[in-house]
Amino acid sequence: MSAPQIIWFRNDLRLEDHGAVAAAAAAGPVAALFVLDDEAPEQTAGGRWAQGWRMGAAQRWWLHHSLAALAAQLEARGGRLILRRGAAGDIVPKVAEELGAAVVHTLLHYEPWAVAQCAAVARKLRLVGHDGVLLARPESVLAGNGGRYRIFTPWWNRLREQMPPARPLPAPARMEFASGGTSDRLEDWGLLPTKPDWSGGFQVWTPGAAGAQAQLAEFLPVAADYDLARNLPSTEGTSRLSPHLAMGEISVRAAWHAVADAAGAAAEPYLRELGWRDFAANILDQFPDHGDVPGRTAFDRLAFREDPTGLAAWQQGRTGYPIVDAGMRQLWATGWMHNRVRMIAASFLCKHLLIDWRAGERWFWDTLVDADLAANSLGWQWVMGSGVDSSPFNRVFAPVGQSAKFNAGDYIRQWVPELAELRDADIHAPWEAEPMMLRAAGVVLGRTYPQPIVGHAEARARALAAYAAVKL
Ligand SMILES: Cc1cc2nc3c(=O)[nH]c(=O)nc-3n(C[C@H](O)[C@H](O)[C@H](O)COP(=O)(O)OP(=O)(O)OC[C@H]3O[C@@H](n4cnc5c(N)ncnc54)[C@H](O)[C@@H]3O)c2cc1C
Repeated sequence: MSAPQIIWFRNDLRLEDHGAVAAAAAAGPVAALFVLDDEAPEQTAGGRWAQGWRMGAAQRWWLHHSLAALAAQLEARGGRLILRRGAAGDIVPKVAEELGAAVVHTLLHYEPWAVAQCAAVARKLRLVGHDGVLLARPESVLAGNGGRYRIFTPWWNRLREQMPPARPLPAPARMEFASGGTSDRLEDWGLLPTKPDWSGGFQVWTPGAAGAQAQLAEFLPVAADYDLARNLPSTEGTSRLSPHLAMGEISVRAAWHAVADAAGAAAEPYLRELGWRDFAANILDQFPDHGDVPGRTAFDRLAFREDPTGLAAWQQGRTGYPIVDAGMRQLWATGWMHNRVRMIAASFLCKHLLIDWRAGERWFWDTLVDADLAANSLGWQWVMGSGVDSSPFNRVFAPVGQSAKFNAGDYIRQWVPELAELRDADIHAPWEAEPMMLRAAGVVLGRTYPQPIVGHAEARARALAAYAAVKL
């Protein structure tokens, strides 16, 4: 038997359309390896907020189930998944030595720790990095002068010229597996919450490649309506593929082609959103500390407020602004939040409460099942106005106006049930409702539901004043 080829899986837990899987399977017997490396993010994080980017709790729940699904897929083919824990730079070469492997194949990822892991492994053995995480390598989308883009639209126009991506590859028809290699037991990794177990609401998800395909199949019949439905939190109008894409259970080009085939020209707005995912990686690749450091450094001088009570109210969905509270409770319950509401809730934290955006970014990191350093830091910096391509700082999302404009009534009824009996006219701003209407709906402000913790006009003025001071 020839020397085994190691497939080093990272956040790309699938066999379909996976360049490393395909190359390894074509070259000889394979050994499938996943390393839980909590050390690399600690080593590579920088800046004042550097607590490291160890995978958050919600995503660990996802990872557990996703690894179980991949292991089952491999076992059905007569193989198995080797699980090891520790610094990937040490563990991958160690497993290669134990198995007598000649080559390690992996997909190229762009988080700073993923790049550092590759460098550490490549110093010790032959590592082959394959594409497959993005639509295009970040460094391949260049302006006419050969420079990198920092603004989405010109970048997207240039990427679009290289699209569509190649059609996705099926999983290899045959895989021969190498024997040997001890494995940890997944159950011993403690990825699932125990006391308290907050994951009850996560049952809406099915992690793993089959779950990703099922999620995609649910979206395809409504994909042509995406442009109209995507901003309406009360409607299931988006694909909800983000946690599957974040864990690489479906390739982005598989999502691209499925939606393009199903929706034709109407697919374009969706393809553009997939573009935002690549764009986020493009920014992170250029600014590896984008999760910690504002793209526009003047923002480091902004006088944020220290407000632990306000931060807790925001985290727990008790701000008194129904749309913000609905989003934050959806996030806590299910590990996911609608994109429109992410923008409103994030803006509320860093503008209405004037709390450092990095506190919100950290909370999202720990609670999102789709947590992705590139997308999360881009999202927060975009909302904050501190990124290289951002919404201007003085765009302060008006939570009540946004909630009414995007018809969030039923969304609020679902996630803030104490307001469920309010009419559409009152539900976005209960403090403005007639006392009689509140009584009829069983709402006592300050008792059954909080009063707003800050007034919109005063909060907006405070944020703009803090910003004006920075510009001086
Ligand atoms: C403050 C903030 C934080 C965010 N944090 C994350 C995060 O940690 N992980 C994450 O995947 N997305 C993040 N997003 C982007 C976006 O909210 C989610 O990708 C989207 O809500 C996922 O739902 P969906 O799969 O139904 O999206 P769809 O609307 O169906 O979009 C399809 C796919 O495109 C990608 N995508 C869509 N919008 C964006 C975007 N703005 N930036 C990057 N990729 C995008 C996602 O992979 C998504 O699955 C964040 C946005 C904001 C405003």
